[in-house]
Amino acid sequence: MKIDGHTRVAGIFGDPIGHTLSPAMHNAAFKAIGLNAVYIPFHIKADSKGALKAAVEAVRAMNMLGVNVTIPHKERVFKFLDEADEHAIDIGAVNTIVNRDGRLFGYNTDGAGYLLSLRKDTGFRPTGKRVVIIGAGGAARSILYSILGLKPASVVLANRTVKRADSLAKEFAPKFSAAVETAALEKAVMEKVLSSADLVVNTTSIGMMGKGELGLPIGALPSKAVVSDIVYRPLKTGLIKDAEKRGLKIHTGLGMLVRQGAIGFELWTGKKAPVSVMEKAALKVLRQ
Ligand code: NAP
Repeated sequence: MKIDGHTRVAGIFGDPIGHTLSPAMHNAAFKAIGLNAVYIPFHIKADSKGALKAAVEAVRAMNMLGVNVTIPHKERVFKFLDEADEHAIDIGAVNTIVNRDGRLFGYNTDGAGYLLSLRKDTGFRPTGKRVVIIGAGGAARSILYSILGLKPASVVLANRTVKRADSLAKEFAPKFSAAVETAALEKAVMEKVLSSADLVVNTTSIGMMGKGELGLPIGALPSKAVVSDIVYRPLKTGLIKDAEKRGLKIHTGLGMLVRQGAIGFELWTGKKAPVSVMEKAALKVLRQ
């Protein structure tokens, strides 16, 4: 990598940040398309007063291309931006900031990245389909929002804390004039819910680093259903392995990670993202 007086800088703000795969993906992408730019992780501590504001201001002051924003800053960052995309506003979180001549624009590319990778990897389109989303946290918000935008036949939101699912359903359903049912993550309830699902997606952190078991009764799913898991460490979670054993179509979390990054890359550079290069770079780190 050559760094000189013309090198542009992008990066990611988060706390913790040591685990991020984004530098590997984006630096490989810059290199592949011959762009004089570098992507750096920045540990912006959540408990350091004024740090996030100063970091966002630095994007402008240092004429950076932009940054990604990850946990725990995605919601708080809004107030430091000049503008935000309507989807990011509705979702209530920004994961990508773009610097356009000193004006900072916020986007949320998670939901679009998820849908794009789902379609590329499995051919699945949610329109007219019965979708079950497990979880009601930050990732579920982006995915529910994006799926509702494509007019599914039905959506069930199942979460350990049903109240949290209820409040998310109440918030989003009217925006899309849709009905969003909620359910408890209990075996008998899930057997019924899954028996008529076309897609089930895990958006919880269960399965991350091999920890925990969702215990979904996937035997109840119709044989043509797609099983999707946004957790990408390990590449194949217990849920994905079970689905594979049953011969169901699977969709793993790496695709979402790569596609949300690729959309951000295109917003920063105006150039087509080399998606397969980004995927290879992320895979290399995951396999180390
Ligand atoms: P979050 O906002 O903290 O939400 C966590 C969700 O997991 C909640 O629904 C929570 O349920 C549920 N949960 C946690 N522990 C549980 C347990 N032991 N039993 C049952 N439910 C449990 O987190 P997030 O930001 O949505 O992220 C969730 C996961 O998605 C993480 O593993 C993250 O790495 C992954 N992710 C992947 C991508 C990608 O690009 N592939 C993008 C974003 C996130 P309660 O409401 O009951 O607490």
